[in-house]
Amino acid sequence: MTEMSIRRLPRSLAPLPDEELTGYLLRLGHRLEQPPALIATRTGLADQGGRIPSRFLLKLEPERAARFAHACRLTQQETDGLCLASFAERYPPLDLTISEHKLGIFLQQTQQVPALQRWVFTQHTRYCPHCLAGDDGSTRHLYNGTWKKTWRLPLVSACPIHNRLLVARCPECGQPAHAGPRAAGLIPQSNELLHPAQCRAPSKGTEPDRRKLRQPCGHRLDTADDEPRDTTTIQHVLDLQQRLLALLQPDAPETVSSIGDQTRASRYFLDLRLACFLISYTWPQARRLDSPPPLIDNLDDHLQRQHSLIRALKAKGKRPRSATIFSSPPAAPAACSAL
Ligand SMILES: [Zn+2]
Ligand SMILES: [Zn+2]
Repeated sequence: MTEMSIRRLPRSLAPLPDEELTGYLLRLGHRLEQPPALIATRTGLADQGGRIPSRFLLKLEPERAARFAHACRLTQQETDGLCLASFAERYPPLDLTISEHKLGIFLQQTQQVPALQRWVFTQHTRYCPHCLAGDDGSTRHLYNGTWKKTWRLPLVSACPIHNRLLVARCPECGQPAHAGPRAAGLIPQSNELLHPAQCRAPSKGTEPDRRKLRQPCGHRLDTADDEPRDTTTIQHVLDLQQRLLALLQPDAPETVSSIGDQTRASRYFLDLRLACFLISYTWPQARRLDSPPPLIDNLDDHLQRQHSLIRALKAKGKRPRSATIFSSPPAAPAACSAL
């Protein structure tokens, strides 16, 4: 399809600060009262099967980006801003320039995310209920609630605006936000017209007819939970997150100190990833390292579960892929931040 064959949508929306592509499509679909799958098709984002490939979260090819911008009445800059590639120069898991071609084919054939890409949550995200609710949390601000790009980065575990840890799972169905079968692509149950903040994970419970698609859970994720706040811990998480995010900014210094040496920011993030792997693999060796107890306890729970899983698989005579398991960051914000 050419840019000219894509018609402009009758109405559109301006992207919100730090908004990611998924959230933008959900808001736009809700505003036009059309399911996101239809919006994706009308704006040239859907593949032949009508799904939105997960790699679009990272980057849109120039032609596709131009078609999308035309349909949604956006500037090129606004369209680019919806994808995570803006951090690519400094954050290697997002650097598609070397392996773009390979990655495209890899994702199409296997629907798997390569090892480095696990350091971007492409199959689910975390969220702050207050940010999803919009500025003042009232329904008047229906279109101000944002799904943020930075929530897809394991480095980000807390919301600096609302001073709280992010939430990894829907309180109703217990599944990660925006999770679904890999084949579903970027937006699970994309044929359903839901509020942008509703949980799209397939609802739990027994389904009499297994061939039927399960209904989406539908729980409103923008309703604030009353999670107890531990301000000291949250401040610790925010300070660390701020230091790491500062390194990703285009105007940050070229080099950073890593294990006593000056190195490029991109190298630093690779070192960090390797250090996280070693800590996980050798756990509990690093348990005595300095981190607030609630965070360490969360990490301990997570890694004990991973080690038990590996032991259980070995006991059944299987060969678990320990390297894969331990090189993936935990989805739970507290455990991830401790790591
Ligand atoms: Zn927030
Ligand atoms: Zn749910």
